[in-house]
Amino acid sequence: MEYFDLTPTLPRPKSLSNLFRGKTRSTLRRSFGSTFPGIGKIGLNIRAADHELVNTLESAELWDYGRVSVARRDIVRDELQPFAPLIARKHFVPFHADMIPTTSFGASLANLLTPVSWKAVRKPFFQAAGYVCQICGEADGAVEGHEVWQFFDGRGERNGWALQRLETILCLCRGCHQMFHLGLGAINGQSKKIGERIRSINEWTAGEYRSYFDNAKRQHAARSRRNWTLDLSAVAGPLRLDLKSIWTRTSSQTLSAKTATGNTETRLVGANYRLDGSFYFEPSSLNIGAVR
Ligand SMILES: [Zn+2]
Ligand SMILES: [Zn+2]
Repeated sequence: MEYFDLTPTLPRPKSLSNLFRGKTRSTLRRSFGSTFPGIGKIGLNIRAADHELVNTLESAELWDYGRVSVARRDIVRDELQPFAPLIARKHFVPFHADMIPTTSFGASLANLLTPVSWKAVRKPFFQAAGYVCQICGEADGAVEGHEVWQFFDGRGERNGWALQRLETILCLCRGCHQMFHLGLGAINGQSKKIGERIRSINEWTAGEYRSYFDNAKRQHAARSRRNWTLDLSAVAGPLRLDLKSIWTRTSSQTLSAKTATGNTETRLVGANYRLDGSFYFEPSSLNIGAVR
């Protein structure tokens, strides 16, 4: 049996292996009621080049941004399953999100890069997802890019800086994006709503969700005790990234800036970047094999 995994390169916590076994979905949840694509329908994660594969389907509709929707009852068909968002995959691995350590707050691509550069990085991921949420197949307004980082606890560490590697960028609606930021959700009083959404998508019991949440908090506390270098080698490729001018580079190769969350210090490896007219590149120190 093949189980669809939204983030196949992201390891799940070993202590929670029972939560992340491949599952067969029991029911297709009702629509969340977003404006796209409306009640009774679901969006597909399909590239423009593959549109003709679904054109013959009676319920298929083409929307703005080249988005494609079908009737929810059709999504269980075998020929549509490769384009189904996580919520509609018959066989799936529950998704997992690591909380960002306090020491990495403000050190996101969205915060580091100029708007033009950030858009260029996420565009191929959005195109591959057909500009539709990869979890629920819906969207209220624009989709958002979520950076999926893998934290290498105690591996590839240099001078007290551990590595977090960008694995992929997910194309998500706002409601699903919140499930990946549990800490922010707690601050905004959204924990209950977010928890219910995660439970329904991963088909977890209240107890299973509790273990997941407790583990996330424990890991967050441990990771917030060290500094993190951002490794962009798996995603940035040949792109040259432009950093916002709020960042300054010190002689120790550290980047620092005042961000919304306070003073942020970080390091960037595995990508060419430009700051104040100068170009920089530091190779990744992680020698653990390619992601793809
Ligand atoms: Zn969604
Ligand atoms: Zn995010």
